[in-house]
Amino acid sequence: MVMATVPEYFGSMVFDDRVMKAGLSSGIYDSLKQTTQGGKHLDLSVANAVAAAMRDWAVEKGATHFTHWFQPMTGVTAEKHDSFIGPSPDGGVIMEFSGKELIQGEPDASSFPTGGLRSTFEARGYTAWDPTSYAFIKGKTLCIPTAFCSYGGEALDKKTPLLRSMEAINKQALRVLKLFGNEDVKRVTTSVGPEQEYFLIDKDMFLKRPDLIFTGRTLFGAKPPKGQELDDHYFGVIKPRVAAFMEELNEELWKVGILAKTEHNEVAPAQHELAPIYSTTNVAADHNQLTMEIMQRVAAKHDLVCLLHEKPFAGVNGSGKHNNWSIATDTGVNLLSPGATPYENAQFLLFLVAVIKAVDEYQDLLRASVATAGNDHRLGANEAPPAVVSMFLGDELAAVLEAIEKDVPYNAAEKTVMKLGVHSLPRFTRDTTDRNRTSPFAFTGNKFEFRMLGSSSSISCVNIMLNAAVAEVLKEFADQLEGVEDFTTALHDLIRNTIREHNRIIFNGNGYNDDWLVEAEKRGLSNLRTTPDCMPALLDEKNVKMLVGQKVYSETELRSRYEIQMETYCKTVLIEANTMISMEKADILPAIESYIAEISSVAAAKKAVAPAVSCGYEAKKIEKLSALVDIIDAKTEALEAEVVRLHTLSDVTDSACTIRDKILPKMAELRAATDEAETLTAKKCWPYPVYGDLMFSVR
Ligand code: ADP
Ligand code: MG
Repeated sequence: MVMATVPEYFGSMVFDDRVMKAGLSSGIYDSLKQTTQGGKHLDLSVANAVAAAMRDWAVEKGATHFTHWFQPMTGVTAEKHDSFIGPSPDGGVIMEFSGKELIQGEPDASSFPTGGLRSTFEARGYTAWDPTSYAFIKGKTLCIPTAFCSYGGEALDKKTPLLRSMEAINKQALRVLKLFGNEDVKRVTTSVGPEQEYFLIDKDMFLKRPDLIFTGRTLFGAKPPKGQELDDHYFGVIKPRVAAFMEELNEELWKVGILAKTEHNEVAPAQHELAPIYSTTNVAADHNQLTMEIMQRVAAKHDLVCLLHEKPFAGVNGSGKHNNWSIATDTGVNLLSPGATPYENAQFLLFLVAVIKAVDEYQDLLRASVATAGNDHRLGANEAPPAVVSMFLGDELAAVLEAIEKDVPYNAAEKTVMKLGVHSLPRFTRDTTDRNRTSPFAFTGNKFEFRMLGSSSSISCVNIMLNAAVAEVLKEFADQLEGVEDFTTALHDLIRNTIREHNRIIFNGNGYNDDWLVEAEKRGLSNLRTTPDCMPALLDEKNVKMLVGQKVYSETELRSRYEIQMETYCKTVLIEANTMISMEKADILPAIESYIAEISSVAAAKKAVAPAVSCGYEAKKIEKLSALVDIIDAKTEALEAEVVRLHTLSDVTDSACTIRDKILPKMAELRAATDEAETLTAKKCWPYPVYGDLMFSVR
């Protein structure tokens, strides 16, 4: 068999530019380009022609169905398949697909979370084609990336606000760029490269753990003799089973046009990472959703399970998703990269301080955008950034900003003070900026890396907030600078004042250090530990004003997000609590009891044969385990009682706070007692694969 090379099969399942150029007339192709690049409205005749070409291409590739592929607020993607077939008069079928079907779908929205947006009598929802993200084939289905909204036009998904936020930052960045004389720039887009962390474990072991099956994480499990203390897994040799998985994963991703680039072992045993080459934010968001889906599918083919949960195992690192973010022009300039001339540098500095101000002013919103029950276990825990948002700039850039702020020379050899429009800046290479792995928001040479996002989350929400916040600051900057007489002085003052007002967010030290939390509090930075702590930020007056003003969310849409995120938090923890209760009752307590019975009969047998033996070992075990059984039983009942009480609450905020204050602590206590019992019970009697087996068995 002749194997196709990567360039031959890359994107073979994507209706990309190559296919469009070949399959569409030049007139149709040009009209479509104007829609995707220039934001022009799409004509139905053009849509019909594109649909026909898409259908022919997809059918030739073996597709039988099409679907509007969208991202409701469940966090995963949704699809409803329709076949292409239509009856022909002679009893056969023809393959049909119209422009109307391409542009718009009408799925029933009633079973998706809407957070009160859709009244029950109006169940209809609409999906609308996003022509800026290519259609692709998955299995036998042509998938058309779409936005999803209600009959009344409110966004019911994550794509719509993301596209709006990209539009907002485009608009304001263009205004700022005009001030620097950039007349040729027509469009500014944000790009993202999300690094995806995950765990791979054996499928048979997974299937023996109800906690993994129902919740994606282990709810019990004593520490194994070895965890990540030797640091021998990070970048270590990739084991054959994992390598085979990665190889097939890459092939599958490449076929659908995903630029999978880097793969390596991560810090924790059984943990790995995949990073793609960055792309336009909405495409990156689509691709990341697809990547998570394909990872799980390919893992299953290798008798593995890919765990995307933020904290599958206690005691070792959790998984995040580093959101590498930058802003660039359609003329190819990365606005977060210092330029060659002083003027370009002034422009760079303005964009830089815009991001600094945005992150400082909307730190609560950024924190809320990564809040989930799963990520609560990670933020502030082992190796994860703390729950406090701060920014790392690196020594060189920090020195430049300090010089501007204080009106002093920025390097000792110089005599004159730092003047924008006169000084050129050093190029900030990765090597000098990327030393700090503990910062939640690090400048890495020409982009920012936001490290708080959880591994299972969509990247949409953080980018919506980030784009909107930066757009808002750029708007303020443009408002201040447009029409001033002395632009250079006004610019200098604006940059200097912005640094002065917002340098509290800059922290170049170790973010994992406890001293930092004390210092952060002194600086007035917020430290929001849990989901219920940070979600109110979404409805905070300042934030609502900004998001509504930037036309990214309406107030109603924000309320719906609040409801959904809090409700999801409650449901997630409740499922965990119920899983714990049932594991205790069905498996763990009976297992410990039968082990006690076994030791008891050993002791009885010993006594029968040799009445003088002490049976001290057995007695000690029986005593300890019996005490633990009583504790576990009591704590299970206490947890159950809290769960019952929770059901009497009707307000989602009350429920979430009860979960944080009552249920989660009870779960932690129950776990501690159970983990202790695990270490005292014979392995053959323990009903589940233990941590050591789960984390070290994939070879
Ligand atoms: P790390 O050491 O954090 O793994 P990498 O150099 O591998 O860093 O890059 C991480 C991600 O950043 C990759 O997905 C990469 O494509 C992305 N990236 C690089 N440059 C940019 C940029 N200008 N904008 C957005 N993302 C970028
Ligand atoms: Mg990394």
